[in-house]
Amino acid sequence: MTKQPPSMVHQGVKILHDPVRNKGTAFTEVERDALKLRGLLPPRVHSMAEQELRVLGNVRAKPTDLERYLYMIALQDRNENLFYRVVMNHIEEMMPILYTPTVGKACQEFQHIYRKPRGFYVSMNDRGNVREILQNWPHKDTKIIVFTDGERILGLGDLGADGMGIPIGKLALYTACAGIQPTQCLPVMLDVGTDNERLLNDPLYNGLERHRERGQLYDDLVEEFVTAASEIFPGVLIQFEDFGNTNAFRFLKKYRDRACVFNDDIQGTGAVAVAGLIASLRITGGKLSDQKLLFLGAGEAGVGIADVYVAALVEEGLTPEQARKHCWFVDSKGLVVKSRENLAVHKLPYAHEHAGCTDFLAALNDLQPTAILGLSGQPQTFTKDIIEAMAKINERPVVFALSNPTSMAECTAEQAYSWSDGRAVFASGSPFDPVTVDNQTFVPGQGNNAYIFPGVGLGVIASQSRTITDEMFLAAAHSLAEQVSESDIERGRLYPSLARIREVSARIAYDVAKMAYDNQLTDKEEPEDLLADIHQHMYQPVYPHYA
Ligand code: NAD
Repeated sequence: MTKQPPSMVHQGVKILHDPVRNKGTAFTEVERDALKLRGLLPPRVHSMAEQELRVLGNVRAKPTDLERYLYMIALQDRNENLFYRVVMNHIEEMMPILYTPTVGKACQEFQHIYRKPRGFYVSMNDRGNVREILQNWPHKDTKIIVFTDGERILGLGDLGADGMGIPIGKLALYTACAGIQPTQCLPVMLDVGTDNERLLNDPLYNGLERHRERGQLYDDLVEEFVTAASEIFPGVLIQFEDFGNTNAFRFLKKYRDRACVFNDDIQGTGAVAVAGLIASLRITGGKLSDQKLLFLGAGEAGVGIADVYVAALVEEGLTPEQARKHCWFVDSKGLVVKSRENLAVHKLPYAHEHAGCTDFLAALNDLQPTAILGLSGQPQTFTKDIIEAMAKINERPVVFALSNPTSMAECTAEQAYSWSDGRAVFASGSPFDPVTVDNQTFVPGQGNNAYIFPGVGLGVIASQSRTITDEMFLAAAHSLAEQVSESDIERGRLYPSLARIREVSARIAYDVAKMAYDNQLTDKEEPEDLLADIHQHMYQPVYPHYA
């Protein structure tokens, strides 16, 4: 018997333990011989469809969503193609497990459920060496980075390095929803400390044991990272995610003309909510410029929505000043008006000449909005009085309770429908089950950013756009709203079914890429068949053949 050189024997074992190349029990008979896998696998060869059934059975048998999350992440670490096949074929079931609300719970528990590293950590201790350590990342073809410092994770606040679940989850959605190649995705946690005492007192916490760095050293580290990442991965798209709001606005302004960056909490949220508002007109009638919006919460998300809405009204022919008058904000200190002192810079454009007021209900009765949008991170703040007042002012009141996760929503879907006698046009940030009021069943739409950012990212990658513009987010909002079907609208749903997300993302990518070509934002020549080019960039979860 000829003796195999050790390298040949080990090659199969390596493939078995490499999540990108592993096929588990789906290695064929021929592959098992060629890769020296005989004896290392149970004898029966399964198809990918059979493996998918096994995974589903296991996931569904788990007692909690957190257990389901852990099972799926372990699968991602073991067999990436199978993971994405399951996620893509069951996106409505998997999205709440891999993203909000379960990902929030996973981040809160991260120090205890930690199993295996994923993504890339840059800490204060790496100052001066970021370029060097980034070379350790094995995938040189990185196209998208989701980058957080963990200061404002969903509506849960400062989770420090334990916020890593967010970039990981968002990038899984880039792949599942828009087909970005998994190996082109890089989750990055910038660990500059945490001010969360619970974490600092927990010996199992994975991040630096120190309070947050906030001064020049912090800015220098962000600068070092953005510069190094843009050099090592030329043209890479960097998505800023879940930064505290002052930093989020500051960094967007600082980097948007220098690198290919955007902030999903500001711009992605803006596009998804405006898409919902555009779709709501098919129920309420009228134009966008007939609406008056009253926001609870004047942070990244609220102001991001107002900015995209203003851009849409400017398209309808209003001046920016006129358009801004359609947006009113109540924050933790009351109505945002000109006379208030020390307002944050991002609120100033929306600080109108008006009497001050500290109560949301009083502001609502005074301003008579057509829509209220909750982005305060404060649960149960859209009370019965508020919904009833909206229903008194409007035949079809628009109520968007967008704070995440579900436990933070300003009201539940059931409350919005029942307190308005079924007249509310409702959307939320986290998913709610269908609701029946007076024998009528409503399917609440989820204003999930996953409708926007994957398609925008795909359009930017496919077109090699050098930059991401505000106009691209407005185009994405229109594109998404156009894809809401009549049957969605009939059931009160302002967003397309998530089951259609890949088709929706491809269309958004088309509109974004078209904008890049039409505005010379790329050196690439526009392909003859742009939609086909977009589809050609999209990853499919299929196994490689080895023999
Ligand atoms: P942020 O910290 O930037 O802003 C929060 C705002 O809420 C601030 O203006 C603050 O003053 C205000 N606020 C706090 N307590 C208040 C109170 N009691 N009454 C009135 N205002 C109050 O946070 P953000 O990034 O804007 O996110 C806010 C919420 O929106 C979070 O829960 C987040 O999960 C959610 N969000 C949802 C989506 C979506 O559904 N697609 C997208 C992004 C963010």
